[in-house]
Parts: sequence; structure tokens; C-alpha cells
Amino acid sequence: MEITEVRIFPKESPDKKLRAYATVTFDNVFVVRNIKVIEGSTGLFIAMPSRKIKHPCPKCNFKNESKSKYCNTCGTQLPLVQRPVTPSDINNLQSEHKDIAHPITQTFREYLQKTVLDAYEKQKTGTGTSTSTGTGIGTSTSTSTSSGFSGLDPDTKF
Ligand SMILES: [Zn+2]
Repeated sequence: MEITEVRIFPKESPDKKLRAYATVTFDNVFVVRNIKVIEGSTGLFIAMPSRKIKHPCPKCNFKNESKSKYCNTCGTQLPLVQRPVTPSDINNLQSEHKDIAHPITQTFREYLQKTVLDAYEKQKTGTGTSTSTGTGIGTSTSTSTSSGFSGLDPDTKF
């Protein structure tokens, strides 16, 4: 499967770890939206679109947020849900979120992440680049090399 298009929607809020949303097209026929570009402690990574896991009340069956202790409708105390920690839990930032769509092989996960992050970096550098220091160094080096070379020309010594 090939990624045929990546669209980046930057979220420039310096205090938050969410850097951008990505919309990715696969094989020109399938689109996944709301893939997140997140700045982690070890660098940028992507998070697949996810939904919050909700816990139904045992009495009235109302679906409560995972962190609620009491049912939002009838006030019944909710049982604490002890879930086993799986590899997908570690991949998710918060364990109460569950991926809606995600790669199931490590190879494709890396390919997807690299493609999205490359597109993000390209978009980031494409808007607002300043190379004032680079050009100044380049000019001074080229002039000193050409004058030094003519003085060492072996033909002038004969
Ligand atoms: Zn209830």
C-alpha cells in the first residue's frame, strides 16, 4: 500500500505538544483524517485518530467518561475498570483513548510516520526561511580561495 498524498494542517500553539493534523490518502482511494503530529520528549511522532473509551453504567447503561467515579445520570458508583496493559496502550498517549484506524505492521507504521513527518517538516521550512548568515560566509570564502590560487600558479615561476 502506498501513501499518495499527505496534507498538513499546522496547529501553532507553543504551549501544546500537538503540532499539526494530517490528512493522508492511500492508493488514491482511501483517506484517513485527523492523524496528529505530536512533539514528544524524543522528537516528533504521529498519533492515529482515536476515540475516548467510555464505560457503561451497570444500573442504567449510560456511557460515562472513563475517569468518572459516579454515573452522570443515576449517580451509581461505577466499578473501577482494571485493564491489562497492552502494547497498543503504550503507543497511545492516554490509555483511555483507542485508535480508530491504525497500521498493524511495524514496517507500515514507520513508513506512515516518516511520510507524515517529512511532509510536516517540508511545510514548516517552506514557509518563513531566512538564510542571511549562510550567504555571507559563502561569499568571503570563494574570494580568498581564488586570490590564493593565482599566487601559487607554477607557470609564473619559470
Ligand atoms: Zn447510571
